[in-house]
Formats: sequence, C-alpha cells, structure tokens
Amino acid sequence: MISRDALEVWKRQVAGSFHPIAVTGAGISVPSGLPTVSADWKGIPLREFFTLDMFLRETERFYQYYRHILQHWTHARPNQAHYSLAKKGIPVITQNIDGLHSMAGSRHVLELHGNLLELVCTNCRSIYSSQLAYRQKLPQCASCRGLLKPNIVLVGEEVYHYGTAVDWVGRADLLLIVGTRLEMAPCNELLEIAKRNGAAIIRINRRAEVILPQILSGSSSE
Ligand SMILES: [Zn+2]
Repeated sequence: MISRDALEVWKRQVAGSFHPIAVTGAGISVPSGLPTVSADWKGIPLREFFTLDMFLRETERFYQYYRHILQHWTHARPNQAHYSLAKKGIPVITQNIDGLHSMAGSRHVLELHGNLLELVCTNCRSIYSSQLAYRQKLPQCASCRGLLKPNIVLVGEEVYHYGTAVDWVGRADLLLIVGTRLEMAPCNELLEIAKRNGAAIIRINRRAEVILPQILSGSSSE
C-alpha cells in the first residue's frame, strides 16, 4: 500500500515538474487483461514465442501463435493509468506492444518494442495491419513480396527509437516509472540518465490505474 503522505509527495513532484516523462512496462496493462512476458499465456510460452530465432526457423508456427494471441489482445482496452497519462499530456516511452497508450489518446509515444497490431515487411519495411495475418498463412508484402513479420522487437533484435528515448529522458525533470522494474538493458540506462540529471523519480509497480489518476489530477501540462 502507498501511504497518503507518499501520495502527497508524488502529487507535489508532478505539480512542480516542467518536463515529466513516463516509462511504462507490462504492469500498466495488467488491469486491461494483458499478461506480463514472464508468464505462459493461453498455453503459449511467451518467452519462447518472442524470439527472432523462432520466427526464422518456425515461421508457420510463429504465425499460428501470433493469430492466437491477437484474438485475445485485440479485445484489450486502455485502463485509467493509460488514460490519466494521456489526459495530462505526459510523453510516454513504453516497453509494451499493446498500443494502449495511443488508443488512450497519448500523442507522444515511443514504442520501444514495436506494436503487436502491425506487420512490417522484412524487406522494404512497409507497415500493414495485423488483420492480414488472418487472410494469409504467411503474410506477404503487397509491393515487394517480402515476408511480413509482426512489428514487434523479438529477442535477438534491437529496440526501436532508443536514441529518441535517451533524448527525452535527458530533458526530463521527473521520471514516472510505471509497471516495470526497468532492469533490462538497454532500458535500465534510461533510469541512470535520469538519476545523473537529478530528475525526480516516482516508481509505481502496482495499482497504477488507481494511483496515477490521483497524483496526475490537476491542470494539463500541454
Ligand atoms: Zn516489402
């Protein structure tokens, strides 16, 4: 439980901040019915699924899993944690692939691990809707015939937008870390950058859908 005093401190830190940035992870989407990657989910070992090796060696099975996961994930909707960040206009750097920050209305979102609801051409990088995976067993690019891959960063690939994330955090005077311990490389460096710059740091691991609306209430920073 978070004490009332701690909430007041956080509220003041938010109110006094000029450049807050949120870094979010799987925990923020758990109240939306989505899993953390450490768990098996709907019979699928997510750690095994999210590897480049699996995609390259067993592409058909990879797409079977992908369609199975999609059916469930596309029902997920943002919760009050996503909405309160959007309403406050706080830029978000997320490790999540669920697209819920954008769906909640956040306009400045860096999806470090991509977006499950998109497919990307492995040849020309064109983007397609995930719905194509229901129409083609192995989805192909309409312009170059390249194999499409879910637009998510798999184990063995580099995260997206990392340079921009470093820029954002470099300018931040408050870092809100929500639903992630921020221990994995390279994202753990973001925390180090914020600390070095003397930014205030707020960590919310549980019940973000209750706590964030409380500490972010007040006027918009946009
Ligand atoms: Zn292509």
